Amino acid sequence: MSRTSMPRDPYEVLGVGRDASEQQIKKAFRQLARELHPDVNAHDPDAEEKFKEAAEAYEILSDSERRATYDRYGHEGLRSGGYAPNFDGFGSIGDLFEAFFGGGGVGRSGPAPGADIAVAVEIDLMEAAQGAKVDVSFEAVDRCEHCHGNGAEPGTPIETCERCGGAGQVQATTRTPFGQMVRTMTCDVCHGDGRVPRQPCRECRGRGRLASMRTVEVEVPAGISDGQRIRLAGRGHAGELGAGAGDLYVLVRVRPDERFVREGDDLITALDVPAPLAALGATLEVPTLDGTQSVEVPAGTQPGDVITLRGKGMPTLGRGRHGDLRVVVNVLIPRRLSAEQRELLERLTDTLTPENLRTNESMFAKLRRALGSQAA
Ligand SMILES: [Zn+2]
Ligand SMILES: [Zn+2]
Repeated sequence: MSRTSMPRDPYEVLGVGRDASEQQIKKAFRQLARELHPDVNAHDPDAEEKFKEAAEAYEILSDSERRATYDRYGHEGLRSGGYAPNFDGFGSIGDLFEAFFGGGGVGRSGPAPGADIAVAVEIDLMEAAQGAKVDVSFEAVDRCEHCHGNGAEPGTPIETCERCGGAGQVQATTRTPFGQMVRTMTCDVCHGDGRVPRQPCRECRGRGRLASMRTVEVEVPAGISDGQRIRLAGRGHAGELGAGAGDLYVLVRVRPDERFVREGDDLITALDVPAPLAALGATLEVPTLDGTQSVEVPAGTQPGDVITLRGKGMPTLGRGRHGDLRVVVNVLIPRRLSAEQRELLERLTDTLTPENLRTNESMFAKLRRALGSQAA
């Protein structure tokens, strides 16, 4: 769409008749603008041009003098009267849209609430199992204690903001060839508060807030998983005068423990069992969260067999139950045998019968075990 060619008839652009009322023109433009809004019409490359064209048409028809000039002399008449279509100064279509309709943060009145803060803490598996109190330190914007947050040097008055007259908002005007476009913005002097100290606090320069290091004790509940977040409402940055604080989000990282793999609330550990003991059966020690515990390895235990210790896993978050500890048996085949050991094993081998080695496993099950999915 060329900007230098003769502009289209504004009535045609807005799709209204030449006798359309002000209301009808306004309604038609709103309707069109909504259809052309970038949020709705992100895929139409011409949407911006179309919107500008509609805006120009509206600028002409919404002003009775301009409309009369156009009705009588057309675009030529407007141009010789000093009007030229130019909305290029607006940048994005979003800016243009905002200039006409507001929205997107414009019109917000009053002090801004505090922002959220995100911090991370690292705990070990034992702490995750038992729950822990962890101190986290971070820089946060806090209420200024010198002025108690009102931004005024103690003993000095707070006055109505001169810039916005106490409204907290100002009208910013943008000059266009069609006249002034007005948009509402948060006052840059009082930041929406409507009041300013005559003598700003010397500690916080009148903002009522100061950045400082803060330490918060975070209670990490038993059973928490790596990557979970704890939200502490109102522990984030302080808001501007009178507004609420943001929230604190604590990301909990659980350090890996070399003894255990965690799977939900279950823990998995591996137990090395020498092959003769796996055949004979034995009582062996396995690591648990709170020390060690004896387990019975039954005679004839095979590589990859799992011994489950009920309730010895992680606590279930907030429910007072526990997962299991699954002990995966890792059978060790003796190596570097002495002559005597070799002879013993040879004698043993000679005595083995098919009954000693019988297994109910299918080839598929054996392969699956060999390929390492036994712990799943
Ligand atoms: Zn202060
Ligand atoms: Zn103000």
